[in-house]
Amino acid sequence: MKTFVHIGIVAILTIVTQIGGIIWILSYGYFKISKRPITRWKKLFSFSILYLLSTLLIVPALAKLNGRVPLPITKSSNLIPHNYITPLLNRHYVKPKLRDQLYEVANETNFENRKLKLSYLDANFPFIDGFPLLPHLSHNDGRKVDLSFYYTQNNEEGNLKPSNTGYGFFVEPRNTEFNQSKECKLKGYWHYDYTKFLTLGTRHDLEFDQLNTKKLVTKIVADPLTQKILIEPHLKTRMNLSNNKIRFQGCHAVRHDDHIHHQIVQ
Ligand SMILES: [Zn+2]
Repeated sequence: MKTFVHIGIVAILTIVTQIGGIIWILSYGYFKISKRPITRWKKLFSFSILYLLSTLLIVPALAKLNGRVPLPITKSSNLIPHNYITPLLNRHYVKPKLRDQLYEVANETNFENRKLKLSYLDANFPFIDGFPLLPHLSHNDGRKVDLSFYYTQNNEEGNLKPSNTGYGFFVEPRNTEFNQSKECKLKGYWHYDYTKFLTLGTRHDLEFDQLNTKKLVTKIVADPLTQKILIEPHLKTRMNLSNNKIRFQGCHAVRHDDHIHHQIVQ
């Protein structure tokens, strides 16, 4: 029974953080071999410290050997995580050229409007091409990153968050706009809006900042390094965007009227 619990924990940690499962095995393996009498809480504490040290010090150095670098986590940067859970779970790794492009876009955005930074969501894990960062099947090679929309509160701009995770709070189609979500669900893609369960809390006093979100998308697609951007069709129309790098992701994926999916060329 105990073995099954450990296997379950290792599987979950690997799916969510990639490295957590291995650190669990190393940490609990050491206690098993050393046979030292130690309480469950001390074991958990030791694992947590080892995980944190690895995440902060060892993984970034090893990932570099794999051609991936972490996105910044400091508040002083113009490129910031939407939520610190993302870097804590090692979900903020990209290829250096994508990081450099994001820095450039973030700095330009902040230069034009001091109230705005560029906020990133899930990117990729540090290691192994083809290892998916669930639930995003395509975030597996360092070329993909999700970015937050901009929102205003009483017409005030800023890096405001309607959803704590950055996912699942949708900029719904108006009555006069094409409703892709309805269309996909009618076709039987029941999962199309399941990210609504992944918000970890929402606030409803914010307005979608169409102007600044459009400026952001326009900057990204203007760069030859950008391969494509995925957003929901009604937002592409609403923002009057026509670049053919801006696409619809298909009903097999999930709604993209809560974030931007961005990917660069090989
Ligand atoms: Zn994505």
